[in-house]
Amino acid sequence: MTLTTELMPFEEAMARFDPVLGLEVHVELNTASKMFCGCPTAFGAEPNTQVCPVCLGLPGALPVVNGAAVEAAVRIGLALNCQIAPWCRFARKNYFYPDMPKNFQTPQYDEPIAFDGWTELDVDGEPFRVEIERAHMEEDTGKSLHVGGSTGRIHGADYSLLDYNRAGVPLIEIVTKPIEGTGARAPQVARAYVAHLRELLLSLGVSDVRMEQGSLRCDVNLSLRPDPGAPFGTRSETKNVNSLRSVERAVRFEVSRQAAVLAADGHVVQETRHWHEDTGETTPGRSKEQAEDYRYFPEPDLVPIAPPREWVEELRAGLPEPPREHRARLQAQWGLSDLDMRDVVGAGALPLVEQTVDAGAPPQAAKKWWLSELARRANERGVELTELPITPAQVAEVQALVDAGRVNDKPARQVIEGGLAGEGTPEEVVSARGLEVVSDDSALGAAVDRAIEANPDVAQKIRDGKVAAAGALIGAVMKEMRGQADAARVRELIIDRLS
Ligand SMILES: [Zn+2]
Repeated sequence: MTLTTELMPFEEAMARFDPVLGLEVHVELNTASKMFCGCPTAFGAEPNTQVCPVCLGLPGALPVVNGAAVEAAVRIGLALNCQIAPWCRFARKNYFYPDMPKNFQTPQYDEPIAFDGWTELDVDGEPFRVEIERAHMEEDTGKSLHVGGSTGRIHGADYSLLDYNRAGVPLIEIVTKPIEGTGARAPQVARAYVAHLRELLLSLGVSDVRMEQGSLRCDVNLSLRPDPGAPFGTRSETKNVNSLRSVERAVRFEVSRQAAVLAADGHVVQETRHWHEDTGETTPGRSKEQAEDYRYFPEPDLVPIAPPREWVEELRAGLPEPPREHRARLQAQWGLSDLDMRDVVGAGALPLVEQTVDAGAPPQAAKKWWLSELARRANERGVELTELPITPAQVAEVQALVDAGRVNDKPARQVIEGGLAGEGTPEEVVSARGLEVVSDDSALGAAVDRAIEANPDVAQKIRDGKVAAAGALIGAVMKEMRGQADAARVRELIIDRLS
């Protein structure tokens, strides 16, 4: 995809225009079964093994609403400070597409289960309030795999394969009201909102919110206007932006693109746009002028949903501690500074650090692993921390090896490296790579003798009583032994020999 778009540098665009954001997030619920049938929802099963007459839309099959999905929807609504509808329905959204075997989808349309809420996030340590328009229930479509052709899209493909395992998986769509007042922080606000939502949903335990597996997907709406008092400009809707980093990049790109269009007296077209992860660009998709008429009508095969008030209040009372409060509590427990905590949160590492601490690692050590060594590895691979093939429990295990004096700091990084390379558990990597600390006197003694011989002036200082000089000899032994020497024992051996 080549760039044919004029762009205005972001800073210049922000000096001339005021951005208005809107974010639509689709979350796949982690219910055991689908929205309207009993089929399992596990990710990654063999294609078309998790299907039945209901989710395949076979004649005569009748749907039944999944109670667990309704409960999750209400809890999400409550966590977003929404009103919960005393009565609402599903609608039928009619369209033909191969990944939707019923030829209609069954979402909530004008009667969402939750509406009119708000949530407060941290943007660079400052609170920022986002108003929520609605959170409604719907179902996912199947998946098409377009084979042949270079883009993976349907155009140019030789043939397409269809997997209906995902058809009917419960989804919640969370839609913000227009987000104003971000100014030049629009990209950070968008990212912080999605990160915040992910954290919130994770705390509710309603979804595994794995952006890389598509269980949390984001559409980014953006428009520009000349100044904050002006009416909203025409917006574009960038579909399926599926990582935090991409959300930020997509906003930046659209700001620069739309600013260039407007500055040249052009019109921003109201359209959906495709996001290209590789180039960081958006390209035109479907124009809203060609939008289909979905002929929505209330779904006649499903009874309305009328959550009893007492039940809603019960669910409200049972909500977990909200993430911001949770963070404040962890920060106090861990004794981290504001800056440290901001680093952890900003890196998207809070749940990982927390799980590492829960698995037994000291907080400072857990933080250090995720923010330095593992952040560097994630960066090298161009992935999020959560996508690294290592678990918090394994990181805690590496730290336990360090704390037990079995592995030194530097070799511990190789244990991590081995873990990421799929060489097994930390114990297995330590033994396969021979990384354990050497405290055996014969091996250490020989290295100490060589260090003394190679550094006679240092040795003399120690003989003269300047024990602090031993550091240089310990360093030499460490270097020779690839960081694996037992430093305390080496020190004892040096002092023994030179006093
Ligand atoms: Zn089914």
